[in-house]
Amino acid sequence: MRYDQTLLEDIRSANSIVDVVGEYVPLKRSGANYTAPCPFHNETKPSFMVSPRLQIFKCFGCGKGGNVFTFLMEYEKITFNEAVKKLADRIGIKLPVYQEQSKEEKSLYNSLYGIYESALRYYQNNLIDKDSDGLAYLKARNISDKDIKTFQLGLALKTQSGLHGYLAKKGFSKEALAKCGLFTSSNGGLRDKFFDRIMFPVYSSDGKVIAFGSRIYKDSDDRGAKYLNSPESPIYQKRKHLYGLYQTKESIIKSDSAILVEGNIDLIALWHHGFTNVVASLGTALTEEQVKLLSRYTKNIYILYDSDSAGKEAAARAISTFITQSIFPKLITLPPNTDPDDFLEDHGTSALRDYIDDAKTFYSFIYEIRNAGKNLDSKRRALTEVISFLDQIVSPVQKELYVQECANLFGVSETNIFRALQALKKKSWKPKDPLNLHVDPYHEEKDIIQLILSHPEQCADYFDDIEVDYFTHPLIRKLFKLFKTKENPDILAGKGAPLLDYFDPKDSDFISDLLFNEQPFSRNDFEKMLIGLQLRKLNVDLNTLNEYIIKHPDNEEKIQEKKAIKHKINQLKKDFKGGTVKKLLS
Ligand SMILES: [Zn+2]
Repeated sequence: MRYDQTLLEDIRSANSIVDVVGEYVPLKRSGANYTAPCPFHNETKPSFMVSPRLQIFKCFGCGKGGNVFTFLMEYEKITFNEAVKKLADRIGIKLPVYQEQSKEEKSLYNSLYGIYESALRYYQNNLIDKDSDGLAYLKARNISDKDIKTFQLGLALKTQSGLHGYLAKKGFSKEALAKCGLFTSSNGGLRDKFFDRIMFPVYSSDGKVIAFGSRIYKDSDDRGAKYLNSPESPIYQKRKHLYGLYQTKESIIKSDSAILVEGNIDLIALWHHGFTNVVASLGTALTEEQVKLLSRYTKNIYILYDSDSAGKEAAARAISTFITQSIFPKLITLPPNTDPDDFLEDHGTSALRDYIDDAKTFYSFIYEIRNAGKNLDSKRRALTEVISFLDQIVSPVQKELYVQECANLFGVSETNIFRALQALKKKSWKPKDPLNLHVDPYHEEKDIIQLILSHPEQCADYFDDIEVDYFTHPLIRKLFKLFKTKENPDILAGKGAPLLDYFDPKDSDFISDLLFNEQPFSRNDFEKMLIGLQLRKLNVDLNTLNEYIIKHPDNEEKIQEKKAIKHKINQLKKDFKGGTVKKLLS
């Protein structure tokens, strides 16, 4: 449920972001903005900024950003509506009670939880059926009845109408079924997304089923996706959850340690063999939220990923995510190209225990996987990578200790490592993840939307000529739509903060980043950028048409359409022979 936009505007304009943030952190004036040490990550030099003009904040260290509502949500760990309430109270505005709407929203959430709960029962019943081939598969993989019960495993049958039929009979609304993520729509109806798969329910920390992971289980099954997870939904954001944690957290607390694995089968295998302090990262790159969640239970983390090259790279990325949260994981390296499940099968519990006892520090792990002992070149590369990790260590004492150890391992002086760290500091804002340097595929769209955000009045003449689907980034597309529809005059007037109300709070970092990056306006550059964008869209359309025409060579209408597009492309290219357009196209 969202409050009325004008009400939000009243609450916001009466709560200056500088005043509100200033109640939590010591703000200092710096030019047009205010700065402070960031309250969301550990730092001594302030990279947290508040803009009184845009009424937004942005941290250039950790990337957090948003308006006065999102600041409170993030700082106080409260919901949007709670933040609105708090700020309304602060200035003495009484909020209306939207009884009906909130009931509706509540009922959608309840329906979704109900659907997942019922789906779980359905899948479980399918599996325990004595003729179930899924059960035979799990037994063959040494997964016991007790494991199945603990992790509530289930089976999706071959049919694509089983779950739908079951849930429809239970009376769930069409809307809720369409939104739950367990179905795909075809010909106006819904079909089961998961069929002929082993199902692994994912739980929230308070024990509700909120998602499913799945895998194929027959040797003959040649469907592309071996693993398939249910998508995000109003009740599930994957970056915030860890598979198995609900069942294993007590063991994690008791042993004050956790073993982090990649897959759900690995997790169950470890559990089966008595390593009950285990969690899995749900098949995605480990996120900051997942690290924060896990660190509530323990700071002693063992990373046990597959020992193939993909697993090693994933582990190297996970190190970085942990270190930025001041956690120094140990890494377990199994013999080449094994996963934990197979390893336990072949070598047993005590062998894995030995490997855990031998777990490596992050720098020894990098030394090993980068083959640093081989020659000078690989050593230099490994050291550069280790230094990028050292750079992320927040505590100076910890940093010094690790520098000493790394200097010993790599056979270089501590002074030189500190020099290298100093040199890194001098570089401008570096990417958070040093292993993930890539060209941003959306940079053209970002450039354009940044100009629009900085100078909406000057750009407004063009809005009618720009189609919403010229933009491919979903958030940028939504931003542009807000300008094009011109429904909120504050947005057109270039106020930053109201924009954020139209987005999920999790997207506010991205949007604040665009807002803070103000660009000078040049009509000429803007037009060139637009033509570049338009050409890109036309080329995409042209490719689609070509594919169609190859299959249907007699369709005169499409052939004419193709001609028209080609003509338009040539026209646009002729209009702008300048370097910019060419660059955008290449
Ligand atoms: Zn920060």
